[in-house]
Amino acid sequence: MLTNRQLFLLHNAQTSTSPLMLEVVKAEGNYLFDADGKKYLDLISGISVSNTGHRHPRVLAAIQKQLEQYLHTMVYGEYVQSPQTLLAKKLHDLLPNHSQFDQQPWASYFTNSGSEATEGAMKLAKRFTGRHEFVSFKNAYHGSTQGALSLMDTEEFKNPFRPLLPGVLHLDFNVVSELKNITKTTAAVFVEIVQSESGYIPADIDFVKALRELCTEKGTLLVVDECQTGLGRTGSFFAFENYGIVPDIILLAKALGGGMPMGAFVAPKPIMDCLSQNPALGHITTFGGHPVCCAAALENISVLQDENLMETVSEKEKLFRNELAGLSVSGSGLMLSIDLDKFENCKRIIDTCLAKGILSDWFLHAPHKLRIAPPLTISPEEIKWVCGVILESV
Ligand code: PMP
Repeated sequence: MLTNRQLFLLHNAQTSTSPLMLEVVKAEGNYLFDADGKKYLDLISGISVSNTGHRHPRVLAAIQKQLEQYLHTMVYGEYVQSPQTLLAKKLHDLLPNHSQFDQQPWASYFTNSGSEATEGAMKLAKRFTGRHEFVSFKNAYHGSTQGALSLMDTEEFKNPFRPLLPGVLHLDFNVVSELKNITKTTAAVFVEIVQSESGYIPADIDFVKALRELCTEKGTLLVVDECQTGLGRTGSFFAFENYGIVPDIILLAKALGGGMPMGAFVAPKPIMDCLSQNPALGHITTFGGHPVCCAAALENISVLQDENLMETVSEKEKLFRNELAGLSVSGSGLMLSIDLDKFENCKRIIDTCLAKGILSDWFLHAPHKLRIAPPLTISPEEIKWVCGVILESV
């Protein structure tokens, strides 16, 4: 009889020729457990998802409660389903009340993933502005689907999949002078407040402010991708809160569902309402906003708030930085990276960490950097232990 590992290689679509092959049998809190009974501290939250830890008991209870009521009933946007409605209201409450439309409610369109949130936001920006050109930044990541891939500049990932969407300009990140390329024909600019897959590079405050001003001046929508930064990872619910700007569209995913597959694009109602007509049903999804995922998401946000997890982030960041003093650390909050010069060095440390029971990773556009994005529930003792292991392996 074949083992699960052998079956995985035979029957699961492979995304690389060297999968990690860790056979997970259980996850709880900050830890994963493999088929041999070995315990691993999850330093990447798989990836930037388990902000409240794996299988938080309150999230599990919310899922259980929803399981007893209803699962799927009808495509998103037709029936009133309280988990979706209460989650959308919760996101509205968390957002500033001074978007480009003062005092207008924020509305959420729920999706199954971050890529779908990107795709939806691209369509929404086209409909709202009547334009079809986009601007994004070099080394960004907004998803793997074809619209999202068009926003990426890295030829290695794009070229085999051409033709992609025309009319996308890729500008240098954090370079204010580049922003002059945003014009009255740009539908939207997509930006990450902390660039994720280039190795957690925070945006400069002047850059983000200039971007906001230019978008307003040109009638271009500013789309902030909070798929990795959202839900407390940088110490505030949304990372843009620390930059004194308000986006026109916000992308959420990853940590939103508390471990369930869930994404959203969120915009002021006057923008979002474009999708309801000309054509009606022009953007629809069967499973987006699944009631079980929404129930989990709603409880997950309450856990973040009730356990004051966001308040602990900056202290934990400081502890990581102190313990890793001497290494080249960048990032913001609990999105940190260590520059190790080349992939071989990084891989060696990932392997040593794995042997010692710590799960880490590199970055899509920065294979020479080690990824640190643990659950926000990681303890100071765990941080010290992890840093000790990393320092020893370096
Ligand atoms: N945006 C960002 C910033 C991301 O990090 C990701 C996923 N790594 C996505 C979008 C796409 O999300 P998903 O994988 O859920 O499609």
